[in-house]
Amino acid sequence: MSMARRLLPALVAIVVVVLLGAACASDSSTSGGDVGERPVRVTTTANFITDLAEVIGGERVEVTGLLGPGVDPHLYKASAGDVAALRDADVVFYGGLDLEGRMADVLDELSDDKPTIAVSEGIPDDRKRQPTEFEGKFDPHIWFSVPLWREAVDVVEQAYVELDPDNADGYRERADAYRAELEALDAEVRETLASIPDDKRVLVTSHDAFGYFGEEYDFEVVGIQGTSTATEATTADIDRVAGVIADRGLEAVFIESTVSPQTIRAVLAAAERRGQTARIGGELFADAAGERGTPEGTYIGMVRHNVGLIAEGLAPSGSR
Ligand SMILES: [Zn+2]
Repeated sequence: MSMARRLLPALVAIVVVVLLGAACASDSSTSGGDVGERPVRVTTTANFITDLAEVIGGERVEVTGLLGPGVDPHLYKASAGDVAALRDADVVFYGGLDLEGRMADVLDELSDDKPTIAVSEGIPDDRKRQPTEFEGKFDPHIWFSVPLWREAVDVVEQAYVELDPDNADGYRERADAYRAELEALDAEVRETLASIPDDKRVLVTSHDAFGYFGEEYDFEVVGIQGTSTATEATTADIDRVAGVIADRGLEAVFIESTVSPQTIRAVLAAAERRGQTARIGGELFADAAGERGTPEGTYIGMVRHNVGLIAEGLAPSGSR
């Protein structure tokens, strides 16, 4: 047997190993490079971001959402399983503007090796709120202005096109269709809220998640505690809000899915002592959409739910 013939099996083995190695390397892409034929792996934080990632990604993506319904992104810390899902992703979408305050280190670290994208990043500074209680930072709750959330569609679309350029047309088509849906939603929101007279356009709720909603749709928003749920309401907060309810003759205040209703009950009792009976108008979705598979489990469904409750609670009964 010649030397060449004896070496051949070894050479074949080496070639096979090298090819397998290459296949594995491209399959475990963490660099944000071309994903090839396999689905794009996406990991998201809040469930309405998961919805957006799925709608624009269509069947090209597999999305792992870390935060379910009723989970507060301000307080959420990534578990070991979450970190694994984040490491495994081709792209990560999160809210940004400090929404995921306790995941900042994890997200920062990820951004070194893969696209780690705040869906709010396309919004120019002059369209962001900078409430005084936020001490120089921007308000992260952009999603209750439907036109602002439309900007997030562009960000997600662009990320997918860069990551998976062979399928760019599909991403663009789905993004165009969804932008049209959001425009229709925005018109629907304005029409539903038109039944509420100017002097009753006051939204009392348990934290300041609705600042952008208020600016976009012309509501005064009275939050009982600060922008982050990390700060507790004080007795002075409760008195101030009860005063607004009594002065404006408001018949409804709203609780949120991510915040305990205890504080709101204290406010209603204080308003009652001032002679104004108000009720809890229902539970608004604030920092999380509803259960997957229900209408409120999507962004559009969550907005519709909130706007319906607000109109029901604040419009004079004759107009509904
Ligand atoms: Zn919030």
